[in-house]
Amino acid sequence: MQTIQKKTVSFSKNAANIFFHILTKCNLKCRHCYINPKQHGKNTLALEVIEKWLYFFSKKHKDANLILLGGEPTLHPDLHRVIKTSRDLGYQSVTVDTNGYLFHDILDRVSPEEVDYFSFSLDGATEGLNDGIRGKGSFARCLSGLEKASRAGFQTSLIYTVSRMNIHELDAFSERVRHLPVNRVFIQVIGLRGKSGSDQQDGLQVSLNQWLDLVPKAAESMAKQGKKVVYPKVFLHPGEPFECAGKVASNYFIFPNGRVYQCPLCEDFPLNRYAFKNDRLEKTPKINEGDLFELDIPEGCVMNRLIQPDNIPYDDQGAPRNKIACCLLKEEVSFL
Ligand code: SF4
Ligand code: SF4
Repeated sequence: MQTIQKKTVSFSKNAANIFFHILTKCNLKCRHCYINPKQHGKNTLALEVIEKWLYFFSKKHKDANLILLGGEPTLHPDLHRVIKTSRDLGYQSVTVDTNGYLFHDILDRVSPEEVDYFSFSLDGATEGLNDGIRGKGSFARCLSGLEKASRAGFQTSLIYTVSRMNIHELDAFSERVRHLPVNRVFIQVIGLRGKSGSDQQDGLQVSLNQWLDLVPKAAESMAKQGKKVVYPKVFLHPGEPFECAGKVASNYFIFPNGRVYQCPLCEDFPLNRYAFKNDRLEKTPKINEGDLFELDIPEGCVMNRLIQPDNIPYDDQGAPRNKIACCLLKEEVSFL
């Protein structure tokens, strides 16, 4: 008999994940866009620079997973070459995160043997809600891109970023997914980064209770349809160990201005631990995110404590009720 299998995906000490923003330009202007041009620059990296940086990480970490992002990565005219180079360099998997517009005929220029996943972003079950968040026409383009990628033999995933704007459509979204050619679904929590971290967007985050009431249930419902569903753990149960991915895992978030972070929550600040200078990766001076990872606090994640302290529930003695999990710690739900 099939049952729901839920597991916390611990950080792998052996696998490296390279999140490479090859440009910050995008054709959309999503209300919660996490790109911050002041911090991440506005340039599009030249192919030869991308290749040098990819080469560096392929030597540092054998069999790394590569996630290509932007902005919108398909706006880069050499994306297909980037993908081929990464395969030649031995990257274990290649994923392209896209808003669905699939510029430069990317599906015709790469093969399912070269790209493990095209991952599409949709933020509503309905056109009205999604387009209100992501821009007019984006719902239709995302779904048509998804169908095209699937017909061309690529594996596809969907990303739904939960906020107060769209949590009420999560159930309807899980029903819509039933009819889509999608292998995996990622439910993300909106972060206080980029536009969603700005004063104008105050209050986009959902409460812990809303999250716990709705997200695990929607994840199970999609898992029962045969999808693999992944969502952030957010809080730890009493007794569950806290680990900071910045200390125990190998994740790198690379931006086109050369900054390289290990923690996505630090991306709105000049706290990057590394930076490419003349195509060589150098450590940045103190204080950087690496110094923050070392702090041991009762709340768990230091960056959450610093940038969103209002989200932490405390008891009458002033102790946090739950530790905040690392934002990179995920629950994975499937029906086996
Ligand atoms: S598609 Fe992505 S990069 Fe483009 S505006 Fe939306 S969130 Fe930002
Ligand atoms: S989210 Fe928190 S726990 Fe995770 S890497 Fe960043 S600082 Fe560390």
